[in-house]
Amino acid sequence: MSLKTSPARVENRGSPCGLRRQRLFTPGPTPIPERVQTAMAGTPVYHRGPEFPALLRNAVEGLQEVFPTSYDVFLLSCSGTGVMEAAVANTLCAGDRALVVQAGQFGARWTDLCRAYGVEVVEREFPWGEAVDPQVVAEALRDDPGLRVVFATHSETSTGVLHDVASIGEILSDTEALFVVDGVSSVGAHPLPLEACNVDLAVTASQKGLMLPPGMGMAAVGPRVWKAHGRSRLPKFYWNLEDYRTSMSEGRAPATLPVTLLAGLRAVLQMLREEGIPRVWERHARHARAVRGSAAALGLTCFARRPSNALTAILLPGSVDGVALTEYMRRECGVVVGGGLGEYRGRMVRVSNLGYVDDTGILEAVTALEIGLRQTGWEFEAGAGVKAAQDALTAEG
Ligand SMILES: *Cc1c(COP(=O)(O)O)cnc(C)c1O
Repeated sequence: MSLKTSPARVENRGSPCGLRRQRLFTPGPTPIPERVQTAMAGTPVYHRGPEFPALLRNAVEGLQEVFPTSYDVFLLSCSGTGVMEAAVANTLCAGDRALVVQAGQFGARWTDLCRAYGVEVVEREFPWGEAVDPQVVAEALRDDPGLRVVFATHSETSTGVLHDVASIGEILSDTEALFVVDGVSSVGAHPLPLEACNVDLAVTASQKGLMLPPGMGMAAVGPRVWKAHGRSRLPKFYWNLEDYRTSMSEGRAPATLPVTLLAGLRAVLQMLREEGIPRVWERHARHARAVRGSAAALGLTCFARRPSNALTAILLPGSVDGVALTEYMRRECGVVVGGGLGEYRGRMVRVSNLGYVDDTGILEAVTALEIGLRQTGWEFEAGAGVKAAQDALTAEG
């Protein structure tokens, strides 16, 4: 394998096949199963009607299995960022100090959200691709015992890193600080056992591991959060989780929920239970392993030091134009993958196996990656990535 210096050749040579199916391998939105699409095509349920409380209860109980947790789970009409904002608004006061440990674009969002509310942020930032060192949390809290909340990210979607939430939680076990975790791209791909990890509040959203369209945010809220809520003076109305607690205990919501997504969620939960939730996590692990194996076989580097099973961020050689690569894969192969974010734009592809992806889907994604890489001037033994993926997918255990 060698670095080829010839200029990138990316032109539309016209697919011999007129058909253009689109296959999403993006870390949100993710593909929606046919069964879920059908479930959402029905007449919307009236959110004040008699069927609604059971639909809501089913969603809450199912999500408790998926996290897993026994905490109250609240559903909100919003994207992931909205429910992150709710986590800030319900736990803090203006002028409070909070710790944000982050190493990527979504981790940095906690900082922006806190600052928007006048919360003073102590930030511990790690380079993209690295995992947060849990020891910095211990040090930061030793330096400033007044830190009220620690914000972290489980699966950092911009880098493909899985942060060590369990170790951070262990450090927090004998402190007063609340632990709030962004599980938007991890829930459904990895277990996030909240009680065992000392997480007080975790958020996720519909369009990632939960195989739904965007539009619904979810928050799992533990008992310590309600104490903080009592003293929290940040302005909130739509985001006031206390109102959700009151109405959801009566099978209602304080504002209209996306009832279509709730109908879809019922089908999603059925599918996850049929497969078995631990097996869903294992599938994500196996698929991510296959993509990482392919990248290595193609002579490429996986970016994440501690990789998430939701997606694989692959660093591209300097000679490959990542924007041209992802555009070629989309246009010619119908395979949509994520590109690099921030300063990694054009230098990375992020191949997601999050949600409704099967073994053949992984082979499709890797095949398209190979075809695209060839077009953008990277040389390797044809089929090496696909073979590595097949080997990983058929390996025992
Ligand atoms: C997608 C994502 C978000 C933001 O979700 P939106 O639904 O786009 O607001 C936040 N955190 C992580 C880790 C994500 O992957």
